[in-house]
Amino acid sequence: MNAGLPSAADGEALRTRLELEAESAGYHLNPDLEFTRSLTHGLLVNEGRYGYRACPCRLATGDAARDRDIVCPCDYRDADLLDWGGCFCGLYVSADIQEGKTSLASVPERRPPAAERTMAPDAPRLGRALSLPVWRCRVCGYLCARQRPPAVCPICKATSDRFEAFA
Ligand code: SF4
Repeated sequence: MNAGLPSAADGEALRTRLELEAESAGYHLNPDLEFTRSLTHGLLVNEGRYGYRACPCRLATGDAARDRDIVCPCDYRDADLLDWGGCFCGLYVSADIQEGKTSLASVPERRPPAAERTMAPDAPRLGRALSLPVWRCRVCGYLCARQRPPAVCPICKATSDRFEAFA
């Protein structure tokens, strides 16, 4: 047995913390506690193995720069939440799924294949951000560069319909 493996209590402690952080930022964890604990346990296993919390549903390389896009929460979470109601793993879900109004179906992988990932491992991320539309929260002025505004403003919790295209 590997004495370095995280305990079930460690997984539960991380689940509790992530849930608090998620709710305070307008996100929601999957209400299936057993399933969610298995994912937070997987995050801790990866943290012990690689030194960072690589997505528990994807194969990490162990190279932090190459895996940066799949460090949880991954670059693809918000788009998957908007399109599918949940992230690829199902750790984060929409409010409707959290409340049991709908159920989470299988979420397709949107991460490009390795050969198609154009960003060099240590390339600055600013250039990539500038190629994206910028959205402004009309309530608090929060700015973000992404394909679509977030479902909920992480600062003031205004909903996505309160965002406008900026500049
Ligand atoms: S798919 Fe979900 S669990 Fe996996 S890294 Fe992205 S946000 Fe985290």
